Amino acid sequence: MNTKYDFLIVGAGLYGAVFAHEAKKAGKTCLMIDKRNHVAGNIYTEKIEDIQVHKYGAHIFHTSKKDIWAYVNQFTEFNRYINSPLANYHGEIYNLPFNMNTFNKMWGVVTPDEAQAKVEEQRRESYVENPQNLEEQAINLVGPDIYEKLIRGYTEKQWGRPCTEIPAFIIRRLPVRFTYDNNYFNDPYQGIPIGGYTAMIERMIEGIEVKLNTDYLVEKEKWDSMADKVVYTGPVDAYFDYQFGVLEYRSLRFETEVLDIPNYQGNAVVNYTDSETPYTRIIEHKHFEFGQQPKTVISREYSAEWKLGDERYYPINDDKNNKLHEQYKALADTQSKVIFGGRLGEYKYYDMDQVVEVALQKVQEVLGHK
Ligand code: FAD
Repeated sequence: MNTKYDFLIVGAGLYGAVFAHEAKKAGKTCLMIDKRNHVAGNIYTEKIEDIQVHKYGAHIFHTSKKDIWAYVNQFTEFNRYINSPLANYHGEIYNLPFNMNTFNKMWGVVTPDEAQAKVEEQRRESYVENPQNLEEQAINLVGPDIYEKLIRGYTEKQWGRPCTEIPAFIIRRLPVRFTYDNNYFNDPYQGIPIGGYTAMIERMIEGIEVKLNTDYLVEKEKWDSMADKVVYTGPVDAYFDYQFGVLEYRSLRFETEVLDIPNYQGNAVVNYTDSETPYTRIIEHKHFEFGQQPKTVISREYSAEWKLGDERYYPINDDKNNKLHEQYKALADTQSKVIFGGRLGEYKYYDMDQVVEVALQKVQEVLGHK
């Protein structure tokens, strides 16, 4: 190990990997550390029974930006996976997002005109002026049938409370499509890396020194003294020792199981939209890659309350947490040696393509190319 690097990169996730790759390409030296025992951060995939298992939740790469798509394609080939989740409501299967297949199954309507008329009729009959909670808001937008079978139970499990106690503003609109198109995303580019996300990250950081099982915050001064600049992609509040308070998250819990059958549910993602089933969805990993293995691996996904020490998943960008984040952000801006980036460093939900984009922008700015 050298004693002096241009950059110390804290976190071997997607943000850190893009930054490190570009810095190395520009002739800079980088040392990357991560407190976990693996690289790739939350997009980590691990082979179980020859199937790439998404350990921190299902990840589908999608983007509308041609340059970002070209960028990631340098490191991996993507397969032809198109996200088309299903909803299971007490054994009735519906296509998502809400589209002509959903409406046909729900009401037997066949043409877009019939479907539109039915949605309008449903909305009109139950319309409430000034909706006071998520239930009233959702019914105003799509009517009671879709709300009851496809929204209520799922949302209550996600939030851990009844829809009548969730504020209306959480859903401003619910996308409905009057075509027979089950593609969840509108983006033109979409897929899953062939060989998994971990291999993609490994290719990005080829030739870069990486130390795993290493928590930067335990010996911060030591690590800081080893580099001119630090790129920190861990939680911003932890960096400042939670001096203003703790930024909150929503967490998830996964129960992963190997089954001795080739095919459990016939689709990668099935949401359980009733209230009785305790999990929100089941991921069957092999269907992300059209796997033909003799066994299958499934993960039941549960929504979970978060407390300090749990895995951080979704930032809670409500007023309280946003204000707290502003305080941390102001302090972070005064640290001339440290760059705070990524979903934890910026306390922001980013899709992968957005993380690639912001990391590229930042590294170009730091290298003086912009
Ligand atoms: P991370 O991947 O979290 O990397 C940060 C790294 O820093 C971690 O490895 C961590 O161990 C390390 N670290 C933290 N603190 C320290 C420390 N003190 N010392 C050393 N190391 C430290 N995006 C999509 O585009 N499509 C999807 O389908 C999709 N699905 C998602 C599903 C879920 C459940 C979630 C939560 C997110 C999803 N995303 C998806 C978003 C995607 O996960 C993020 O864009 C991406 O992981 C962000 O990368 P990152 O490098 O910012 O953070």
